[in-house]
Amino acid sequence: MRVSKSFIPTLRDDPAGAEAVSHRLMLRAGLIRQLAAGIYSMLPLGYRVLRKVEAIVREEMEAIGAQEFLLPALHPAELWKESGRWDSIGGEMFRLRDRKDTEMCLGMTHEEVFTAIARDEIRSYKQLPQTWYQIQTKFRDEARPKSGVLRSRQFTMKDSYSFDVDAAGLDKSFDAHAEAYKRIFSRCGIASVPVEASSGAMGGSESVEFMAVSDAGEDWIVQCDGCGYAANLEKAQSAAAVVEDQGDTAALEKFPTPGVRTIEDLVSFDGGATAERQIKTLVYVVDDEPVLLLLRGDDELNEVKAMDALGMQALRPAHPGEIRKLLGADPGSLGAVGVTNAKIYADAMLRGCNGMTTGANENDFHLRHVDVERDIAKIQWVDLRSTREGEACVACGKPLRVCKSIEVGHIFKLGLRYSEALGAKIQGADGKEVPLVMGSYGIGIERIMAAAIEAHHDENGIIWPQSIAPYKVVVAAVKMKDAKQAEAVEKIYQDCIDAGFDVMMDERDERPGVKFKDADLIGIPFRIVVGARALEKGNVEFFVRATGEASEIPLDQVISELKKRMI
Ligand SMILES: [Zn+2]
Repeated sequence: MRVSKSFIPTLRDDPAGAEAVSHRLMLRAGLIRQLAAGIYSMLPLGYRVLRKVEAIVREEMEAIGAQEFLLPALHPAELWKESGRWDSIGGEMFRLRDRKDTEMCLGMTHEEVFTAIARDEIRSYKQLPQTWYQIQTKFRDEARPKSGVLRSRQFTMKDSYSFDVDAAGLDKSFDAHAEAYKRIFSRCGIASVPVEASSGAMGGSESVEFMAVSDAGEDWIVQCDGCGYAANLEKAQSAAAVVEDQGDTAALEKFPTPGVRTIEDLVSFDGGATAERQIKTLVYVVDDEPVLLLLRGDDELNEVKAMDALGMQALRPAHPGEIRKLLGADPGSLGAVGVTNAKIYADAMLRGCNGMTTGANENDFHLRHVDVERDIAKIQWVDLRSTREGEACVACGKPLRVCKSIEVGHIFKLGLRYSEALGAKIQGADGKEVPLVMGSYGIGIERIMAAAIEAHHDENGIIWPQSIAPYKVVVAAVKMKDAKQAEAVEKIYQDCIDAGFDVMMDERDERPGVKFKDADLIGIPFRIVVGARALEKGNVEFFVRATGEASEIPLDQVISELKKRMI
């Protein structure tokens, strides 16, 4: 590829509004451009990387016996109604009507469509197992698209689906995917951490996410260096310190707390309470019903844990008006003592606590000497709190680490969730009809690109892992107008093509600094530079982007040197 004839619109400066490193560098290196919020065009260089990632994914999927499909992105609503997800999925789904006013949607995932094919075509256990996959465009109307392709509204996904006759078969398909995923991420230069995760809107019994640790990520994961325990914060458990029994058996006492609105206010209030001796009362709305969620004052609610605990796919904080109507007070003075008009869910850390302080449901008043189990009616005990950095690992007691990460893959044991809803049954070995046992498995292709950049870059630009670099080699002359240099560059370029390398030749009549800056920004792994002085000795400069290593090597050894270093 000749740079002078290529479309690589690099930017010298950081574009405004792009915070994540990968977003900034993908724009600056001319890989992507934004069309609308959360919608990106892949430019030629970006699309080369995307196709390389896809090729690796394909190889690994084929290696576990998966067969490639290509399903429509446009789906009839009817099918999503059969699974129940037309109603349970909220604003994230792009919905539309065709000219006959039939409801349709743009696929955000393909459980329904693949299950319908299996239902209509697979008759017997003898045809199993089957693993089907596709690499296809998905649509998700994100509330807050951000960080470039990391959280976008249209993206490329490899999704696969396994169909087995029983749970043991599903375990095998699931494990095969987990191994394939580890290989895919490692081949793309991403150190991935498999973590226990919430199955959320997908349903099913068990799921594992593959996370790339990065500050650009929006997921928090909890890791133990002692035993290797790893979980999404949405799922993570810890052996957090329990507040010891205060032995406070005194009767409830209401006391004035003028101006106290927050946990911190009450900590510093004369006669108040430390955060761990307070009950935090949150009002949420689930299915139009208000619920109270109680946590210890020093704990934070994890909303996904709350959704899992309540078996719901959506909840929202109540509005101030709803709260006043329900409890007769404003946030800052809320509590669950005496409340009978809403369900009450309390975090397990509050179990057995006495001598607690909570809002009195009367503005500027609190209650003290609260014994949680004595004074609050009909508590349902659940896990609501977010695990914190430094808390002890449940398994080994070592302190846990909490870090940000990018979700690059997610695999689910769906079990019978979709086959039962859609009536996908087959004849089992004993002749009886049984529902198909399913798994589903996803990888975000653009997210791999972004995660690789997040992991491999410096102040000069991207440092592509060789496996997914748009080109592996760039050849340039210091002075293209010098006939000898131009001739040497052309020769090396041609030799690289003959050797089968992905090579670009920067034969622009630009200052060397400009050409080198662009090569660094784009992140080409190897750079060969032809300059007058070295060329007199029959040498060229050989530069390795990842290590910064620069050496002079004989012109006629360029190809053998590259071959040695190529992975
Ligand atoms: Zn541990």
